[in-house]
Amino acid sequence: MNGLVQKPKAVPTKRLLALGIGLILCFSAICAAILWEMADKDYRHAKEGATNLIASIASEIDRTIELYDLSLQAVADGVKLPELGKISPELRQIVLFDRAATAKDLGSILVLNAAGDVTRDSRTLTPRAANFADRDFFRAHRTRADSGLFISPPWVTSDGEYLISLSRRISNDDGSFAGVVAGSMRLSYFHNLFRKLNFGAGDSMALFNTDGVMVMRAPFDISKIGQSIKDSLVFKQYPARQSGSYMTKSVVDHVNRLYIFQEVGHRRLIIAEGLSLDGIYADWWQQLWLIGGVVAALGGFAIILMFYLLAALKRRAAAEDRLAHLASTDALTGLANRRRLDDTLDVEWRRGMRAKAPVSLLMIDVDHFKAFNNTYGHQAGDAVLATVGRCIAASTKRATDLGARYGGEEFSVLLPGIGKAGALEVAEKIRAKLTAARESEHELPTVSIGLSCLVPDHERTSRDLLKAADLALYQAKHEGRDRVVVSPIGWDKSGKRHVA
Ligand code: GH3
Ligand code: MG
Ligand code: MG
Repeated sequence: MNGLVQKPKAVPTKRLLALGIGLILCFSAICAAILWEMADKDYRHAKEGATNLIASIASEIDRTIELYDLSLQAVADGVKLPELGKISPELRQIVLFDRAATAKDLGSILVLNAAGDVTRDSRTLTPRAANFADRDFFRAHRTRADSGLFISPPWVTSDGEYLISLSRRISNDDGSFAGVVAGSMRLSYFHNLFRKLNFGAGDSMALFNTDGVMVMRAPFDISKIGQSIKDSLVFKQYPARQSGSYMTKSVVDHVNRLYIFQEVGHRRLIIAEGLSLDGIYADWWQQLWLIGGVVAALGGFAIILMFYLLAALKRRAAAEDRLAHLASTDALTGLANRRRLDDTLDVEWRRGMRAKAPVSLLMIDVDHFKAFNNTYGHQAGDAVLATVGRCIAASTKRATDLGARYGGEEFSVLLPGIGKAGALEVAEKIRAKLTAARESEHELPTVSIGLSCLVPDHERTSRDLLKAADLALYQAKHEGRDRVVVSPIGWDKSGKRHVA
């Protein structure tokens, strides 16, 4: 039954899905960009804080060392005064060693002669007999006049005290080596300084010399003091740069950190703060889970909504298709109705005109149907009409063929692109099917068929085709019914050539 089922309206599912998913992806991308910006901000914030902190600690350490250095320089200059030998030992002690030498965390200041023997001690008038000629600081000052303030790596006294030595060379007026003035600084000074700071869990602070020897570290671990961290990435930047930052896994405790370092004045000491990456991004991770969760929930909700909308759209499209089908279908026979026939005939007529192709039409009328109705009743009559409809549908198989109920007990078959011979074949096929049906339903009435075939042109309309088929049908009735009559309009007598 061709031409009866209209192609259903397709819901653009893929396009709608792509649009929905595209919108969700755009929204997610915006959220990702915001989160990225937040992470970057946290990173910059942490870095700025750490840079400021180590700058202030570095200046504090530098100032303390400078004060101590001034004391050492005063002693180095003082021991050369010729008047020193003329005053009492007590007065000499006061002149040589000012109060800085007795400050908290600072050890005694010793004066060593050119042989390394202790000649003066800030804490006593009678210095103990000791020789430091083999110490690194003594050798450094003896060999170089320009060593300046020498700060030693940490070392432990026999009392178990951790110190660093600070020393300066004593030169004769001719510049030759006259000895060394040396003091010491307890590491507890740095320990107390670091202890005052508020660290996040996983953060660290380290003070080490430029040879990579650890002087102090927080969190404090005595075993780390004196440890070499020469492999640290800081020495990839230092001495080319006096401050900088880098991200790495700690060589000391293997925690991933952002390190910010700075040299302490020009003391050949470096202070570095390590911020654990987990700590820097702790808040950000919380926000990530929160925002990520909200985005995922919204995305899921949007997807569910999208599928719900798609299903609703599909249902609506299907309902519209059903309505359109009903509006163009004859309920009793299932064939197209008159309106659809008229619409299709117009379309096919114009198409035939463009293609110069013939359009054929059958007008079919049930014979003596009034009498049949009177004899067998209206319901039996309806059943006959349905049977005729089935025979028509079964005989029109091409996509462009259209079987229709024209009205009452009249039917039409539109056969676009089919010539007279082809149309005659279809007409006979319908009659043959009815004849076959009559074998089981003996009372089934016959049909008369009028056939017209025209090649559309500007001189005729589709009405002419209908009229010609109607006339042929009338002729068929007149000739005794149960037959096909071909309209002569548009064809010469031989029935072959089309006449304009
Ligand atoms: P002819 O062979 O000349 O066509 O005679 P006829 O009786 O078929 O023609 P007529 O036009 O006199 O009668 C048509 C009848 O068709 C009249 C009407 O009762 C019947 N009819 C029209 N529509 C329907 C319908 O939907 N159902 C039924 N059962 N009968 C119908
Ligand atoms: Mg009739
Ligand atoms: Mg009739």
